[in-house]
Parts: sequence; C-alpha cells; structure tokens
Amino acid sequence: MAEKNLFTLIPKVDEILDKNSIKELLNYIPRKTVLDSIRMEIEEIRGKIKGKILSEEEIINEIENIDFKIKKRADEKNAYKLKRVVNATGVVIHTNLGRSLINEKIMDNVKEIAINYSNLEYDLETGSRGSRYSHLEEIIAEITGGEAAMVVNNNAAAVILVLSTMAKDKEVIVSRGELVEIGGSFRIPDVMEQSGASLVSVGTTNKTHLWDFENAINENTGALLKVHTSNYRILGFTSNVDSEELIPLKEKYNLPLIEDLGSGVLIDLSKYGIEYEPTVQESLRKGVDIVTFSGDKLLGGPQVGVIVGKKEYIQAMKKNPFTRAFRVDKFTISALEATLRYYLDEGAAVKEIPTLAMLVMCLEEIEKKAIELKSRMDEKSFDDSLQINIEDNFSEVGGGSLPLEKLPTKCIVLTLNDLSTQEFENNLRKFHIPIITRLYKDRVYLDLRTIKEEEFDVIVEGISFALNKVKGV
Ligand SMILES: *Cc1c(COP(=O)(O)O)cnc(C)c1O
Repeated sequence: MAEKNLFTLIPKVDEILDKNSIKELLNYIPRKTVLDSIRMEIEEIRGKIKGKILSEEEIINEIENIDFKIKKRADEKNAYKLKRVVNATGVVIHTNLGRSLINEKIMDNVKEIAINYSNLEYDLETGSRGSRYSHLEEIIAEITGGEAAMVVNNNAAAVILVLSTMAKDKEVIVSRGELVEIGGSFRIPDVMEQSGASLVSVGTTNKTHLWDFENAINENTGALLKVHTSNYRILGFTSNVDSEELIPLKEKYNLPLIEDLGSGVLIDLSKYGIEYEPTVQESLRKGVDIVTFSGDKLLGGPQVGVIVGKKEYIQAMKKNPFTRAFRVDKFTISALEATLRYYLDEGAAVKEIPTLAMLVMCLEEIEKKAIELKSRMDEKSFDDSLQINIEDNFSEVGGGSLPLEKLPTKCIVLTLNDLSTQEFENNLRKFHIPIITRLYKDRVYLDLRTIKEEEFDVIVEGISFALNKVKGV
C-alpha cells in the first residue's frame, strides 16, 4: 500500500471518541486529557508512517491497537504525581518516602475534620474566636510534663521561631560539635541566622567543656542552646556538656536553656531493644526551658515541629509574626491530636503508631512475614531467571534518628540469572504502585520490617511486571 493510503487508515478523532473503550475512559478521566492522548497517539502514528521505519503490516497493527495505546497514555497522564509506594528499603523513617505513616483510625479523625467545618479557631464555650493551638496544648502538657506548648509546620520552623522569640539580636551559645546539618537544607548555623540571633560556637569538634560555655557568656548573650546530633555521632576522644550540667550555669547567669531534640522520643525505647535516646520528658524534668522536636520522626505523627516548655516563652512565641507564617493546618492538628492520644497508654502507642510498631517489631514476626511473602512468590512460579531467598539483614531507623542503630531483620533477596538487576530494580520503581527496594552487590533486597501484609500481592505483581519488562515480553 502506498504511503498516502496508510494515512487514510488512521481514524478521525471523532471516530475514536465514539468507540466504547474510549467512552469508558471519559467516565474517570477529564475529556481534555483523553483528547490530548488521542491527538498525540495519532501524531505518533503519522510520524511512524513518515519515518518509514515500520513495515506496512506493523503500521496497520498499530492503527488497530490505537485504543489500547490511547488508554495507556491517558491513564499515565491522569495518574496522581504524588502517589503511594511500597517501602521495601527497611528504613522506617524514610524522609524521601514521607517519613511516618498514620493509621486508619487517625485518618478517620482527619477525614471528619476535613469534610466538615470544625472549631479550629472557635471557642465553643464563649462562642467567640479561639486558638488553633488550644486543641493540642493540654495533651502535650499531659504527656511531656511541660507547662505550655505550641506546634508549627516542622522542627526547622520551630527552631527559627524559638530563637527569634528568645534571642533576636542576641548571641546564642552552642557547642561546635553540635553544629549539625540535617538533610542538606537544614543547617543549624543558617537557621540561626534567619531567626536574627547570632551564633557563638564554643569548644572544638570533639570536645566542649562547661567552661567553654561560661567563658563565652557576656551581656549580649540571649540563650544557651543544645542540639541533638541526630544523624551522626562523634566517637572516641570526646566530651560534651549535657543539658543537665548547663542548668546551674543558666541559673547563675539567668539565661534560658533551649534544646532541639530532633526526633522527639516520648517513650523510653530501650525496653524494646532500641538504643536509649533521651526523651522530651527527661529534658524538661532536668530543667530545660524550651524543647523542640519533629512530629514525623520517632513520634510517628504528621509533619510538625512541637515546642514545649515554660509558659512565658510559649506565650511570647504566639505573638511572634513568624507564628502566622509557620502555622499548622487543621488536618495536621487532627492527626497530631489522634496520634498523641495513643501516648496516654504506652502499650497502645507501640502497637498502633505505625512507626513505633515497625521499630519494635520482633524478628519472629518479620520472619513469618518473609516466609509468607516468599511462598506467594513461589506460587507465582517465576522461572529460573529469578532466584528467591530469605536472608538475615539489618533495618535502619532513618530520619536522621539513631544513626548507629542496626535492627536485625529478614529480607527477601532476589537474584537474577543472566538478566540486568539494575534494569529490574528500575522497573520495580516504574510499576503503577512503585516498589522501592535496596540494590546491593547486584541483588535486590526487600526488607519485611517496612512491608505490610496488604502489600504482598502488589509486590508479587510488581516483580512479575518488572521481570517481564527486563525479558522484553
Ligand atoms: C530532623 C531535625 C530537624 C529538622 O526537623 P524537621 O521536622 O525535618 O524540620 C532539626 N533539628 C534536629 C536535631 C533534627 O534531627
């Protein structure tokens, strides 16, 4: 057939729109997206005819399958950009994968608030304006023992707000060993600068003494600051000044002591076999005036920065203009309130808060999951190109929390025979529910600690999809 005639075989846009398979698309995909997909597909076929790379038969085949390709294109275009993934990395608080999960009961509370009006800033007693922070203040105080509390968008914002309120145009003394950078864009010195406080670092990288702090105090000093070195540890010949040792000093000079705890642990996790980490309650009990921490790290809630401590400082913060800029929305407040409620009963917290449940999960339970997932994979009987094993390994806490902690775990390890592992892993990420794994020494690791049973089917399908792609079928 001549080239010209091939063009005439391409159906018109209206004809395509009339097909049942395309009409079905219009039930859930915006018309514009469907139309764009039709036009692009037609354009592609025209290009192929002009390019003369395909045989006449192949072109006719393409034209016959045009509906299928339009559907694929429209579905892809219509898929949400922010979507769920399977976290098979074993990093529990994975910042790139959204840190902490919230459970369905918490989500029900968020939904209730999201689809209805609420008393977000309304005092039901008086019928007049209320404060969005009031909903959380009591429960945070009850759990932590702090006098007052407030919540902002994240911990970075909390640190800026605290310093800007308590030490604007003043000097803040911090140990050099605590000048941390967290996740690239959060550097303690840079944040301090934004707040209008000026940083005075004392001591050396590995050693800071109490007298380093005392020597740096002068009439311009506004506060003493402790920063939890979340994501690294200085080991060996080291010494640092504990917040407890700073209490007599801050009292002697009548200065506030601020502590950025980073992770915000509210229960002692050492009884679950996890490295001891100072809790928020302890810092406050020792006499730290203001403590800040993240909501979505070890606390296991939504993204927030919690500020808790002396009432006079919290009250001043509420009047700081930054507060308006950093304020949390109603979904966040409802998710945080529901998460915090679990902390009134520690047993419930470690069971119901997904981050904590994953961290304290025992090896037997992880192994049971590994055996179950492997048997689902075996049922699928992938051929010899894929070898499936269960191996011992280690999970990580993540989120810059407890960097040295290695949690014993079980992984399913996939070894490919004569096929590209890199390409396989790549295709796992391209599955409609992307599966994020660990690639190590040319093998793919799936850590069962961070995988839910409800995800087993998706994983088996994803492996099947990726394997077929690598094989080119
Ligand atoms: C993680 C962390 C922060 C930043 O908290 P975000 O909630 O991510 O803004 C600040 N300080 C410390 C010590 C941290 O560990």
